[in-house]
Amino acid sequence: MTNVIYPTTNLKAVEQLVLERGEGVYVFDNQGKQYLEGLAGLWCTSLGYGNQELIDTVSEQLGKLSYSHMFGGKSHQPGIDLADKLAGMVPMDNAKVFFGNSGSDGNDTHIKMLRYYFNAIGKPEKRKIITRERAYHGVTVAAGSLTSLPANLAHFDAPLEALGILRTDHPHYFSGRQGNETEAEFVERITGNLETMIVREGPETIAAFIAEPITGASGVIVPPAGYYEKVQAILNKYDILFWADEVITGFGRTGNDFGCTTMNIEKPDMMTFAKQLSSAYYPISASLIRGDMYEAMIEPSAQVGVFGHGYTYSGHPVACATALKVLEIYERENLFERSAQMGDYLQTKLKQFADHPLVGEVRGRGMIGAVELVANKQTGKAFANGSVGAYAVQRCQEHGLIIRAVAGNSLAVCPPLIISEAQVDELIEKLGMAIDETL
Ligand code: PLP
Repeated sequence: MTNVIYPTTNLKAVEQLVLERGEGVYVFDNQGKQYLEGLAGLWCTSLGYGNQELIDTVSEQLGKLSYSHMFGGKSHQPGIDLADKLAGMVPMDNAKVFFGNSGSDGNDTHIKMLRYYFNAIGKPEKRKIITRERAYHGVTVAAGSLTSLPANLAHFDAPLEALGILRTDHPHYFSGRQGNETEAEFVERITGNLETMIVREGPETIAAFIAEPITGASGVIVPPAGYYEKVQAILNKYDILFWADEVITGFGRTGNDFGCTTMNIEKPDMMTFAKQLSSAYYPISASLIRGDMYEAMIEPSAQVGVFGHGYTYSGHPVACATALKVLEIYERENLFERSAQMGDYLQTKLKQFADHPLVGEVRGRGMIGAVELVANKQTGKAFANGSVGAYAVQRCQEHGLIIRAVAGNSLAVCPPLIISEAQVDELIEKLGMAIDETL
């Protein structure tokens, strides 16, 4: 029996696959079998495996300065440069950047920033955070409380009551529509519910609304047209901040620089990044806030003597150097534009599954998509549990394709951004065989 406690795993069925190496969009197991990485690891290996430039960057930085913390303003050039670079890229005003190690701790940082900021501006009661049903924002005690997936809450006594988490509707029309409701009516209803909840709770008690522009782990939900426009109008009306969790959607994944761009989200007040920020060559997250929010935090930190939040590895120099190089490669190789073009190709190919008797909906944008398997194609009725999706994933693996089933039976694809057209064809062919075998 293994001594590893496997994360996000059925503990009765561990060690499914032992991987040994990777090359381009492929990984190889300890028997030498090749797999196309259809989910870019966990939505993160955008530049694939074995990128020599990144390997060199990591090893050069390890040789130069393998570690430095950032406490007390101790700094290093890769950290300073990366913050400048990010601030110049994001659709935010004078963004300031806090570095961490993972999407979860990046979101935890933001929860604390919200407290700090609203205390600083004399609104300490403004502390509740609105998340959505089916949201995924990580698994730490705080960020995990913003997550709404049952498995991430069960047996953990989450969400943490003290955090004041409010949940509003998810924006998935296919599974959330009522009767003959149109998309526009669906949007009207769920944004109406949001406003009702804000009024009921008291807008003066609500700090922020968090959303992944397009969700990943909760089923690749692409909200209907007009949804975010309505949400942002409501948040602006009640002075509630918009917090974009771009841990998956950041850096070209949805066919644009950011998911906010793809979904017409205007100027978020806060953004969280991880995963593709370093293409997973080194762990790093970045939590960005508006410049004026940062300025409001300066005086209180001086009173205490310190802004008392920071991780040992906040701004790890190797992580920062790696992320800088990754951003350079995205730019130099026009990967966001390429992702838009290849994304169109991928989405067109995925749409071929829409007529399949087992498929309820095909959805996605850019280089992220999902094929949802359903019990009844006519009504869209879901299967009772996720075993059908799990079986399809197993069939994919047999054929040399790694993907994940999310939100039960939605087969998610999110390949490295460097994937070629021929490799997309390979992904589609293998996925098709697996779906046929699941019927
Ligand atoms: N936020 C989103 C949108 C994510 O998809 C994830 C992970 O999948 C996280 C946060 C948490 O990131 P991590 O697993 O690096 O803690």
